[in-house]
Amino acid sequence: MIIQPNIKCGQCRRLYKFRLENAKKYTDWHNAPVTSFGDINGRLLIVGLAPGLRGANKTGRPFTGDWAGDLLYATLEKFNFTKGQYGASAKDGLYLLNCRITNAVRCVPPENKPTAEEINTCNKFLKRELEGMKNLSVIMALGGIAHSAVLSALNKKKSDYKFSHNSLHNLNQHLHLVSSYHCSRYNTNTGRLTQEMFEAVFENIRRKI
Ligand code: SF4
Repeated sequence: MIIQPNIKCGQCRRLYKFRLENAKKYTDWHNAPVTSFGDINGRLLIVGLAPGLRGANKTGRPFTGDWAGDLLYATLEKFNFTKGQYGASAKDGLYLLNCRITNAVRCVPPENKPTAEEINTCNKFLKRELEGMKNLSVIMALGGIAHSAVLSALNKKKSDYKFSHNSLHNLNQHLHLVSSYHCSRYNTNTGRLTQEMFEAVFENIRRKI
């Protein structure tokens, strides 16, 4: 069974305080660690960086309610990893098929920037997520930090598995790591990541699943 962080987890003091500040300002938002979403028996796990302030931190579901989620869920739908319609809300009735989504850091960080210590502290939850997915065959890491967090959780040497967009690493005979630039608004606005580039990653994933 996968152990999720307690709703009141305060292991990262800075993030805990930030959550409390947001809870005072935005009383009807989630403002707590964000639980993973999707199929525990799925073959694909997508690992993002951390909840967005007005996305997952508001709605309580990974990548739900912000730009990054619009692109991610539309692409998941195109590659048949969803059932139902994405409606930017945790109550939209969407299901993930053969797929699960989580974050390397479960609490929203100020300016979307978790510290190395926070990434390290929350890594135990990613490790348990990976251990709990018994059919896992592909991990998709969104961005270099998520890529690195996955390797830490699996006790792999980072220099053996360098991050690059649409890279495919064989972690063992049955487990692959496919990485992508993060589907953030910043990356898409600057042209670092286009829709075509993002879809090419999913084509790569579909060759394995
Ligand atoms: S980031 Fe993770 S470890 Fe840190 S407070 Fe949130 S849930 Fe706890």
